[in-house]
Formats: sequence, structure tokens, C-alpha cells
Amino acid sequence: MGVRSKKMKILVINSGSSSLKYQVFDMENEKVLAKGVVDRIGLEGASLCHSPSKGSRHIITTEIKDHEKAIQLVLDILSDKDHGIIKSLDELEAIGHRVVHGGEDFSGSVLINEEVMEALKNNIELAPLHNPPNIMGIEACKKIMPEKPQVGVFDTAFHYTMPEYAYIYGIPYEYYQKYKIRKYGFHGTSHQYVSERASAILNTPIEELKIISCHLGNGASLAAIKGGKSIDTSMGFTPLEGLMMGTRSGDIDPAVVSFLIEKENWTKEETNEFLNKRSGALGLSGISSDFRDIQDQAGKGHVRSQLAIDRFAYVVKKYIGSYFAIMNGLDVLVFTAGLGENSSVMRAKICQDLEALGIEIDYDKNFTRAIEAEISTNTSKVKVLVIPTNEELMIARDTYKIVSKL
Ligand code: AMP
Repeated sequence: MGVRSKKMKILVINSGSSSLKYQVFDMENEKVLAKGVVDRIGLEGASLCHSPSKGSRHIITTEIKDHEKAIQLVLDILSDKDHGIIKSLDELEAIGHRVVHGGEDFSGSVLINEEVMEALKNNIELAPLHNPPNIMGIEACKKIMPEKPQVGVFDTAFHYTMPEYAYIYGIPYEYYQKYKIRKYGFHGTSHQYVSERASAILNTPIEELKIISCHLGNGASLAAIKGGKSIDTSMGFTPLEGLMMGTRSGDIDPAVVSFLIEKENWTKEETNEFLNKRSGALGLSGISSDFRDIQDQAGKGHVRSQLAIDRFAYVVKKYIGSYFAIMNGLDVLVFTAGLGENSSVMRAKICQDLEALGIEIDYDKNFTRAIEAEISTNTSKVKVLVIPTNEELMIARDTYKIVSKL
């Protein structure tokens, strides 16, 4: 690695349709120097909320008409003499971008060039809601800082190693050839981060481990990671497949969809909204997509909230069983993301009666939240870990790795 790499500060950007989150890392010690979020881009009441690690939060409310203006505001505040954390933009060595869908083109993170941009645009069809704002973020950075190297880190890339029989669907093969319909998987950056942390915590080479990682947030997915490689994951062609989630149905009989389209006379948009926004824990409980509310209500005897909790835990348990089978065993079970990191109730429910798979959690140790912890009993064959995810750090690390070689 070059000499300059020691001083490297990296800006990480996660650009959504109307919001943009950022963090700046000092790669010498991997510490966050500042983070923030631009909200309501292109809408009324837009704002930037900037939090330097040393100093107080600063909020700016102003018109932010597009992503270019949002990025400009971020760069201004980062180099602002009162609230900033750098003297000039020269101190930023590179920018790392989260990109949701890499399709079949990317098996890892890449330095962004014309060819990569072309491939990203070709993949818009696969992620029409997510890839366009990711691309807007990259283009805005390119316009404002054309000389800065930019790196794309894909949610799908970690799952590139799935074997064909795992990612192919049982539909006529020509639809895979024609439209690239297959399982891609998401949350890859998170699954990779927690599996690498698990290996470090247990002081065991990742090549020797069979890991199931449970990313349980508003969006939720499991990954089967054998020898450090994802061999299966629960999300599919889109993030809709797999677990029941906050507002997504997860796996259902596909015939339900055509049945409902006929009965309710839904358009394509209404159908997508039903499956992605009105289903899952929200649809079942009828009160909220947030498991904090649902747990609270279940505690007060709300029957359908309890059903949502039971269903969620049951589906996670079924996936754990199937991933145990495809890996022919299990060494580590990891919980991460909002629910996985914080909800001892949900973790306990998922792990209950899994002794047959060698999974035993210690109910006292399980009473932990938002910190790295081992929650299995001393006699449990499988280590059960809680590991807070850190996708931004993973993006910064990949960016650092690629840019250091330039
Ligand atoms: P994420 O998408 O990773 O930010 O996770 C957000 C979700 O985590 C929320 O919608 C909640 O359902 C869940 N969550 C966060 N904190 C808790 C908690 N203390 N107890 C239960 N669920 C939680």
C-alpha cells in the first residue's frame, strides 16, 4: 500500500431516492469523523443533519432540489470552519458508494469508470427503485469532484459465490437467459462484515467456519456462509423473497398473487405495494411494522401482534434448519441489524428448541443489546453471537483497499 494510504480519509455515501446518508472515516484507525443525513431531497422541508464525532449536531434547513445540491451541501459542511472535520476537500482521498444491485456483473467492489457506469445503468431494470438514486449520487460526486476516485460496493456482490443450483429458479431456463431472473440476494455487505467479525472474535480462520448470519432489521435476510463464501441467502430476485419482514410478505405461494389480482382488480403498482408495503409484520399485526410496538402490544395481550412475532421467529427458525442442512452442520449463528442486535425476546424465541442442532443460548447472556456478545451456553456446540453490523465501515474498507493500489 502507498505511503499516502496512512492518512486516508474516506467519504461513504448511501444515496436513496429522497435521502442521502454519509460518513467520513479516518482509515488510520477506522474511526468515524462525522456522519449525517440529507432528508427530503427534491421535496419541501429538506434538511441536512450533520453530526461530527467531536462537537455538536448541526441542522441546516434549505432548498435541496437534487442529489448534486445535496452532495455539495455535505461537502460544504465537511469543510466548514465551525462544524467541519477537514480543512479542504483535498483531504478526502476517495468516495465509496453503496450500490444495491450489481446484477451478474460484479463479484466484488470496483473502481467506478465509464464501463462500470454503463453496467450500473443496464442493471436499473433489476432494481428500479434503488439503483437510479445510487447512480445519481455517483454522478453528482463525479461532477463536483471529477478527480476523486470513486468505488462502488454492491449489496449483491457477496452472494456472487452461490452455486447455480442455489440461485436458479424452477421456471423455464430461457427466462433466466432472457431477463436474468434468478436469486441475487441482498444485505451482502452486512453478511460479509458480521461473518468476518465472527471469525475474528472466535479467533478461527473463516475458511474453517460454517456460519449462518441473521440480518434481522426492517428488511431481513439470512445467509449460509461456508468457508467465508455465501452459498445461499433468503432474499431473491428482489428483497421480497424469504423471511416475513416489517412490511414485506416474504415467501408465499405465488398463486396467491394472481388470485388476488383477479379478486381485487389490482394494477402492477397496487400488487407491488401490497406485497412490499402492506404485508409482513404490519399486515399481520394490523398495528405497526416496528417490532418494538408489536412486542409492546403482544405483552398487553394483542393476539395478532403475538401472531406476527410467532410467525417471524418460526420462519427464521425454518431457514436456520435448511441452512444447517445445506452446509452439513453449523459452527456459528450470528444475529445482527435492528431486531437481531436489540431484541433478546426475538433471539430467545428463534433459538428455543434448537438443541437438536447444537444451539443453546444462555438466557442471562442473551440479555444484551447493541454490543458484540457471545450468548450461547458454555456447552452449546454452536457459538451464538450478537454482532452490530457496520456496512459503512465495510464500504470504507473496500474503498481504501482499491484506492490504495492506484
Ligand atoms: P434496521 O432496519 O436494521 O434499522 O432495524 C429496524 C427495526 O429493528 C425496527 O423496525 C424494529 O422492528 C427493530 N428494533 C430495533 N430496536 C428494537 C428493540 N429494542 N426491540 C425490538 N425490535 C427492535
